[in-house]
Amino acid sequence: MPSEFTGKHVTVAGLGVSGVPAAKVLHGLGAHVIVVNDGDDERARAQAAQLEALGVTVRLGDGDTLPEGTELIVTAPGWKPTKPLFTAARQAGVPVWGDVELAWRLRGLDGRKPAPWLAVTGTNGKTTTVQMLASILKAAGLRTAAVGNIGVSLLDAVTGEEEYDVLAVELSSYQLHWAPSLRAHSAAVLNLAPDHLDWHGSMEAYAADKGRIYEGNQVACVYNVDATDKPSTEDLVRAADVEEGCRAVGFTLGTPGPSQLGVVEGLLVDRAFVEDRQKNAQELAEVSDVNPPAPHNIANALAAAGLARAFGVGAAAVRDGLRAFTPDAHRIAHVADVDGVAYVDDSKATNTHATEASLAAYESIVWIAGGLAKGATFDELVAGAAKRLRGAVLIGADRALIREALARHAPEVPVVDLDRTDTGAMLQAVQEARRLARPGDTVLLAPACASMDMFTNYNQRGDAFAQAVRELGA
Ligand code: ADP
Repeated sequence: MPSEFTGKHVTVAGLGVSGVPAAKVLHGLGAHVIVVNDGDDERARAQAAQLEALGVTVRLGDGDTLPEGTELIVTAPGWKPTKPLFTAARQAGVPVWGDVELAWRLRGLDGRKPAPWLAVTGTNGKTTTVQMLASILKAAGLRTAAVGNIGVSLLDAVTGEEEYDVLAVELSSYQLHWAPSLRAHSAAVLNLAPDHLDWHGSMEAYAADKGRIYEGNQVACVYNVDATDKPSTEDLVRAADVEEGCRAVGFTLGTPGPSQLGVVEGLLVDRAFVEDRQKNAQELAEVSDVNPPAPHNIANALAAAGLARAFGVGAAAVRDGLRAFTPDAHRIAHVADVDGVAYVDDSKATNTHATEASLAAYESIVWIAGGLAKGATFDELVAGAAKRLRGAVLIGADRALIREALARHAPEVPVVDLDRTDTGAMLQAVQEARRLARPGDTVLLAPACASMDMFTNYNQRGDAFAQAVRELGA
């Protein structure tokens, strides 16, 4: 079937998770595809060979030169906007789309009615919220999928065989940057903390890219009432150009005002999608239906509920969907209780914002932290959590930064500094934590750092923790 892509000269920037499928889809639609890639290693060559076998041209080792005749660039979301390729594209008037923009434009190309998108972004909690949302939508009997970083890829969701009524879509700030025409049915920004600023250039630019998720929303822009740092998520809603009649709907861990979802006496309640919201509220679920019922996760559940309600989902399905949801591994996962001490794996807490949320969820904590700090500072994090720390065990390359913050803001907290990075380090960390812990405490792996100095990724770090805990209990 001819389409706007037939015969078009498209340059795909970057092999990899988004580039290879994008090149295949575009080639299949009859576009003349050239893939450009900075790297020229073994993996790139294998991927290139696969594409070349289909008839796609691949240029390895030069991701900066704009191929002659390019009419459109489809870029991997991680490519920095300052790359020379994009400067050349701007000069030549060539549009640049990311993988999300491409998926958005491919919707309905096969003649099917496209499924609306309920979109989620934020510094932390995206994956969890999108999964909660998909679980709620399923409980309402809708055909749906959690799409984005995990599960089904966006391109598959819009071009595959499976038919959907609605999609729960996770979007990163990079993806939003490159998605100018995306128009979600409704969208949520969960929170905004400084992250990836080297890529975006400034906090303002980062916030503006996140805020694009609200552009053109039809029913609801869901924002975080409790996040008041500037710019707030509510500021982003105000700045967005939305469809006539689209509403701003807040979520809060406090008592909700009109047009908000919030918490009243252990219940998640909705004062947004009810008749006469000045007077009425609808009970959705109990706080204990949220797994785990940590404050930040209740916020995620409220955001997911807000999007589902915007799509017309009933209260019972919100409750059933939340009850059916189980978090992914390494996200505040309860590993075991040993001698009255709980061991919790939040290896996914790779930045201070996530760790702050995680530390706020427990009363008395032995904290295992450290790794690659990625330029972060720890003063605020440590000062905020000092009262709840029974002790700290520090691992990894940048542990001195955390040790110094502890000395400044929590000098009475005992600290064990582990000067080893071998495979036995995590076992020793857990043993030291056990020594510091008292019955009723929680030993919490929430490193506030990336893992790559000692582990392949956060999964492996979390697995090492769980294995060490099992050895304790044995
Ligand atoms: P993302 O997809 O945005 O990376 P995840 O759902 O995978 O988010 O969670 C990442 C980390 O952030 C987890 O370690 C979790 O403890 C923490 N987290 C989850 N939700 C929130 C939130 N609403 N606010 C702060 N931290 C959160």
